[in-house]
Amino acid sequence: MIADRLDQVRARIEAALRASGRPPGAVRLIAVSKNHPASAVREAYQAGQRDFGENYAQELVAKARELADLTDLRWHFIGHLQSNKAKVVVPFVCMVHTVDSISLARELAKRATPGSKLSVLVEVNVAGEPQKHGVSTSQLREMLDCIRSEPALQLSGLMTIPPAAPDEARAAFVALAELSRTVGAPSELSELSMGMSDDLELAIAAGSTMVRVGTAIFGSR
Ligand SMILES: *Cc1c(COP(=O)(O)O)cnc(C)c1O
Repeated sequence: MIADRLDQVRARIEAALRASGRPPGAVRLIAVSKNHPASAVREAYQAGQRDFGENYAQELVAKARELADLTDLRWHFIGHLQSNKAKVVVPFVCMVHTVDSISLARELAKRATPGSKLSVLVEVNVAGEPQKHGVSTSQLREMLDCIRSEPALQLSGLMTIPPAAPDEARAAFVALAELSRTVGAPSELSELSMGMSDDLELAIAAGSTMVRVGTAIFGSR
C-alpha cells in the first residue's frame, strides 16, 4: 500500500531529523513518481502527499494533465532537462531542481510565466563524476550569478545526486552543504535537495531540506 509506505518514509524522515537535533518538519518529502502511473500519484495524494517529482518532460505533462483536478498538487522537475523542453514543463512545475547549464537557465527565464518567478536549484556534480550532469564546483559561482541576473527566476538552493557508495554519498552531502554556505546567503540558498530512498538519513544529517524518494514509496520501477 502506498499510504503505508508513505507513513514509513515520513517516520524515517522525522527519526533522522530527531537524530541530528533538527526540528520536526524541516525536510520536505518529494515523492518521485517516474515510471509509475497517474493512479499511483492519486493514491499518494489521497494519503496526504502534495509534492511530486518527475524526470521526463512528456511524462510529467501527461500526468499533470490527467491529474489537473488535484489543484494543490505541486510538480517538481528533477531530471536532466534539455533547453528545448523547458517551455513544455514550465507551465506545470513549481520548481526545477536540475539547472545545470547557463543556456538552460536562460531558456527557463524566457519561458517563465509572466509576472511570476520560477524557483530553481542548481545541480552540482560534487564528486566530479564524468557520467553525471550538474555543474562543477568551479562553475557554480558563474551559474549562480546568471540566475541572479534573471528577474523571472528565483534562486532557491542547490541539488545533487551523489555517488552510490554510502561513504562517498555522505561526503558529497556534507560538501554540498558547505558549498552552499560559501557561495550564498542562507536566506538565498535556503534549499538543499539531496537524499533518495537509500540514503535519505545521510542527507538529512548533512542538512537536506528536500528528499526525493521514489522506490520506498511506489516500489521498484
Ligand atoms: C529516480 C530519482 C530519485 C528517486 O530515487 P529512489 O532511489 O527511487 O528513491 C531521486 N532523484 C532523482 C534525480 C531521480 O532521478
